[in-house]
Amino acid sequence: MIYKRSSELFTAAKKVIPGGVNSPVRAFSAVGGEPIFIKEAKGAYLFDEDGNKYIDYINSWGPLILGHAFDPVVNAVVERARKGTSFGTPTQLETTIAELAVSMVPNIDKIRMVNSGTEATMSAVRLARGFKNRDKIIKFAGCYHGHSDSFLIQAGSGAVTFGTPNSPGVTKGTAKDTLLATYNDLENVQDLLNANKGEVACIILEPVAGNMGCIPPKKGFLEGLRNLCDEHDVLLIFDEVMTGFRLAKGGAQEIYGVNADIVCFGKVIGGGLPVGAFASRNEIMDYLAPTGPVYQAGTLSGNPLAMAAGLAMLQELNGDSEIYKRLEEKTAYLHKGINNVLNRNEVAFTINRQGSMISVHFGEEPVTDFESAARSAGNGKFNKFFHGLLDHGIYIAPSAFETWFITDALSYKDLDATIEAVHQVSKEL
Ligand SMILES: *Cc1c(COP(=O)(O)O)cnc(C)c1O
Repeated sequence: MIYKRSSELFTAAKKVIPGGVNSPVRAFSAVGGEPIFIKEAKGAYLFDEDGNKYIDYINSWGPLILGHAFDPVVNAVVERARKGTSFGTPTQLETTIAELAVSMVPNIDKIRMVNSGTEATMSAVRLARGFKNRDKIIKFAGCYHGHSDSFLIQAGSGAVTFGTPNSPGVTKGTAKDTLLATYNDLENVQDLLNANKGEVACIILEPVAGNMGCIPPKKGFLEGLRNLCDEHDVLLIFDEVMTGFRLAKGGAQEIYGVNADIVCFGKVIGGGLPVGAFASRNEIMDYLAPTGPVYQAGTLSGNPLAMAAGLAMLQELNGDSEIYKRLEEKTAYLHKGINNVLNRNEVAFTINRQGSMISVHFGEEPVTDFESAARSAGNGKFNKFFHGLLDHGIYIAPSAFETWFITDALSYKDLDATIEAVHQVSKEL
C-alpha cells in the first residue's frame, strides 16, 4: 500500500500540532511508522487520503458499535444542527436521553452528562470523595480512566504505551492519594483497605479491562470487590466508559450481576460525538450541584448535537433485541478463526474476549493483569503483526495494549478476510 499523502499530511500536522496528533495513541509511536490520515468512513470501512480501504477494528476507540456514519445517528445530528447547536439552557432532549439511559442500566436513578470519559471519571471520583469525606482512592495498574491527574498512575492505554505511567505535572500530593492495586487480585485490595482504614473514599476499575488488551475479571473478582466495599464502607465505581452499552444494554453490571455505587459512561453513549456521563442512586447524585455541595459543570454539557447522536444510538441498541447476541457471535467467530490460523502457523498466543471486545497477545501465558499483559507485549511480535495487517487492509489499534472493537457493520465476509490476513501475516511472525 502507498501512504504518500498521509505522510505529507503528517509532516504538515507536526508543524502546528504537538506530535502531529490531538491524542497520543494516534501517532503510531508504539508500533513505529507514521499515522494514516482518514478521509471518510462508512459502515465497517475506513478510507484514507491515499485512497486505501481498511476493515476497521478501532471504530473511534469504541463508540461506533454500529459502524461508521450510521444513518439514524447522522440524520439525528443533521436535523438537530439546523435548529441551533447549543443554547446553554435545559432542553427536553436531555431528559429524554437520561430517561432512556436510566431505563437501560440497572441500579441508577439519575445521570449527569459531561463531554468525555475523562470528565466522567474525574467527576465521579470528586463526588465519591465529597460524599464520603475521604481523600484516598484505589485504582488498578493497567486500568485507564482518562487523563485527569488522580488516574495517571500506572494507567493503561496510551499512558502505558509511552512508558510515562507517572506523567510529569502530576503532583506528589495528588499521587499519594491514589493507591495502586493489581487487577484480579482481591487479597491485594484487602491489604490496601486494611492499611488505610477509614481513609479510602472509593475503588474505581474497568469491570472488564480494555486498556491493557481485553482482560475479563476472574470469577468472583467483582463480587469480592463489592463485598470489600460494603465491609469497609467504600464506594465502588465501575468505569464503564468502554463497556457501557457495549457488553449489554446494562453493561458489566448487568452481565456480572454486581451493582456499583457510581457508573461512568463515555464512547457508545455519545454515538461518536463527545459525550461522557456518570450515574448513581438518588442519594449520591443529589450530592452534586445544584442540589448538593460537590461542584461540577460544563458549558457544552448535554449539548444538543451530542445528545441527539447519543439518543439515536441508545434507541437503536434498546430497540434491537438481537444486537448483543449478534455482536457476541461475530466476535466468537473471529476468535475461533484467528485461533485456528495462529495454531496452524505455530505462533504462541493468547486471545482474550468478552462480548464484542477481543485482544490477541503474543505469548502463551494467560493475560490476567498489567504485568502479564506487559510481558506478552515485550517481544516485538505485535508491531510486525500490526503493520502486516495494515498492509492487508485490516486496521487494528496501533498498540499491544488495546482492544479490538467488533461492530454490527462487520459482515462475515469481512471477518473471513480478516482471518485470512492474520493467516498470511502470522506466517512471518
Ligand atoms: C476511553 C476511556 C476513558 C477516557 O475517555 P475519553 O473520552 O477519552 O476522555 C476512560 N475510561 C475508560 C475505561 C476508557 O476506555
